[in-house]
Amino acid sequence: MSDPGRCDASEDWALGADAADPLGRFRAEFCMPQHEGRDIAYFCGNSLGLQPRATRKAVTDELDYWAELAVEGHFRGRLPWMDYHEFVRDDLAAIVGARPIEVVAMNSLSVNLHLLMVSFYRPGAGRAAILIEKSAFPSDRYAVEAQLRFHGQDPGESLIELAPDEADGTLSEAAILAAIEKHGSRIALVLLPGVQYLTGQALDLATITKAAHAQGCVVGFDLAHAVGNIDLHLHDSGCDFAVWCSYKYLNSGPGAVAGAFVHERHARTTRPRFAGWWGHEKTTRFEMGPEFRPTPGADGWQLSNPPILALAPLRISLEVFRRAGFDALREKSRAVTGYLEWLIRERVADVLDIVTPTEPARRGCQLSLRVKGPRESGRELFEHLQRDGIVVDWREPDIIRAAPTPLYNRHVDCRRLIESVARWRSAR
Ligand SMILES: *Cc1c(COP(=O)(O)O)cnc(C)c1O
Repeated sequence: MSDPGRCDASEDWALGADAADPLGRFRAEFCMPQHEGRDIAYFCGNSLGLQPRATRKAVTDELDYWAELAVEGHFRGRLPWMDYHEFVRDDLAAIVGARPIEVVAMNSLSVNLHLLMVSFYRPGAGRAAILIEKSAFPSDRYAVEAQLRFHGQDPGESLIELAPDEADGTLSEAAILAAIEKHGSRIALVLLPGVQYLTGQALDLATITKAAHAQGCVVGFDLAHAVGNIDLHLHDSGCDFAVWCSYKYLNSGPGAVAGAFVHERHARTTRPRFAGWWGHEKTTRFEMGPEFRPTPGADGWQLSNPPILALAPLRISLEVFRRAGFDALREKSRAVTGYLEWLIRERVADVLDIVTPTEPARRGCQLSLRVKGPRESGRELFEHLQRDGIVVDWREPDIIRAAPTPLYNRHVDCRRLIESVARWRSAR
């Protein structure tokens, strides 16, 4: 595979690198949308991952069980619905570097963020603030502001926003640590992304957690763009909680069931929570008693019985990750993203600036690209790529995101993207 020191820009080189890719066979496990009779070049796995071919049958199997077994499907069938969320637990724990008791698949990301803030944002005397980044994803910002107001806090005072301090709009670790140090005594919760959605920058969760804990703050992470993309060691990072969605790199379909992590040290917490019957201790749940006794661990935050038709795709997707092996995926991810970066610098450096950090440890597979010149040229290029069967995404005001995901992207896809950019430049 590609070592940027040894790339060349020819198609033959890209084809050779793909032929040598031990994960190349996984591409055929995904449905590839078509454009004018050929596969599109899909760089949008950061937004909606492609459909694994096995997903359709997994969903129709559950529809069949429902048709044939009706209520008995809770106890019979290959994977009885009663315990269905447990069938994804081990794979989910593996992909985020957690212990099984620390993870649960449930709800959607923003819902989980609220549920965990109910437990982990507990403003007290003199310590009521939440630290987020200034360019936080809107939903996270809305959720944080809503929590502040819910607790009678004034966001003008209690929302601390960390502005990007690096030239490309990224955050230096020094700035994050300085803000934690400076405001630590009044911060109740530090909430940061694992990978920043706009810039693709990856943060060091363990370092941030350590600094925030030293100041007595609770730490949560939004891993929407990190899960299935970068190596995560949530347990060892020591963070208190984390949430993520599963329709991006986890390829589990639009609106897929999301995930949550609660560190083992909180497995038997007495913190307040918004309780529902599925969070009740499993062995006594059906005694239907009036008193809520939470299941130890992340399972205790569940409200409702799980959506089986939505969990089936997640189960399939996590199986694909398990078979591919995350270390191998990450290695390919570094290589292909490194190749894309190299191609940009070599072929179209006069058109595109790379916003995402260069160091492999500070990014996943996504590259955020700023088109030189006025905003309109960025839109123009974006639309040109679309017409050319190349799917990237556009984020206001001026960012094109391209994420070569290692499960289904190839070197030749990256080359096709860059050659298309070069053609656009020549035609202007
Ligand atoms: C994608 C994304 C979300 C989406 O939230 P949903 O509740 O799944 O709609 C939230 N936060 C971040 C940082 C994201 O990237």
